[in-house]
Amino acid sequence: MKRILLASLLISAVNVAFSQAPTVSTSPKKPKNIILLIGDGTGLAQWSAAQASTKDNLQVFNLVEHIGLSKTSSSSNWVTDSGAGATAISIGEKTYNKAIGVRADSTPAFTLSEMLHVKGKGTGLVATCGLTHATPASFYAHQVSRYMDKEIANDFYGGFIDVAIGGGYPWFDSSKLSQTGYQRFVCSKDSLKKIVSPKFIAFYDTSNNVPKQRDGRGDFLLDASMTAIRNLSQNPNGFFLMIEGSQIDWGGHDNDADYVITETLDFDKTIGAIGAWAKENGETLVIITADHETGGLSMPSYDKAAGRPVSKFSTKDHTGIPVPVFSFGPQSELFKGVYENNTLHSKILQAFGE
Ligand code: MG
Ligand code: ZN
Repeated sequence: MKRILLASLLISAVNVAFSQAPTVSTSPKKPKNIILLIGDGTGLAQWSAAQASTKDNLQVFNLVEHIGLSKTSSSSNWVTDSGAGATAISIGEKTYNKAIGVRADSTPAFTLSEMLHVKGKGTGLVATCGLTHATPASFYAHQVSRYMDKEIANDFYGGFIDVAIGGGYPWFDSSKLSQTGYQRFVCSKDSLKKIVSPKFIAFYDTSNNVPKQRDGRGDFLLDASMTAIRNLSQNPNGFFLMIEGSQIDWGGHDNDADYVITETLDFDKTIGAIGAWAKENGETLVIITADHETGGLSMPSYDKAAGRPVSKFSTKDHTGIPVPVFSFGPQSELFKGVYENNTLHSKILQAFGE
């Protein structure tokens, strides 16, 4: 009697296990889309400073499912710059400071955007700086120096990027853009929200720069990101989109805590909107990281009157401390652990099943 009871208990336990099987995430579901968000110069201190001014309601901390640490040193320096930092992710190899889409020996290597475009994915870039700047440039250009803006812009006409939104208007030639199949928009007169196009470049205005958040940029980053997602979603094969919170780094270089916090909060607001979209979509992996930390920011005490921690910077430049990698969505567990920044490249390809 006891044995029969035990056997039936076992059988029902097995049945329960099987009936629950579909809800257990043992199946390696691959994402259709990957959104990589790079907060330039955004280490844990920058996130913490922003978190302290949101009353513990930082979107990235609410959305994250897995956390990793990326070691950011370049092939030439323990402290990287943004060219080597973004190139390590885009080509999968560490390179020298100031390199854009080239290896340590200066030879060009395929970027994630180029590789995935060839596979039929939609590709996009969004930034709150000029599109020839180091971070976005590292996904489409191959130049020995980040300061070769003209040559970097020229590489864009290769056509591997479907959707690009940011600054940098003066560097891009309108006839070359149209010859290579791009529609061109200027956001000061063409509303981002109305853009419907399979291949376009949209500029903040006709200048090279994009203003600071606190100087009236408004929801440009959020609107640009959602416009990119809406248009890239038309690709039945999915998409790879890189979004940069470009100016968090500039606040760090200026040792301006308010600049860092307002830019980080703007980036975080965009992450919140993307998180809501991705949860609804269900087949999008979202990765949020940085190329390096900027400013050596620390918060040694709390300013009661100001209602936030005291921010102290230890350098006007970048630092070499590892930066967080926050991820959520299908295959986000791949991004757990402590690894070199160039490993993000192979992890992204692995997540897609490439
Ligand atoms: Mg940058
Ligand atoms: Zn910098």
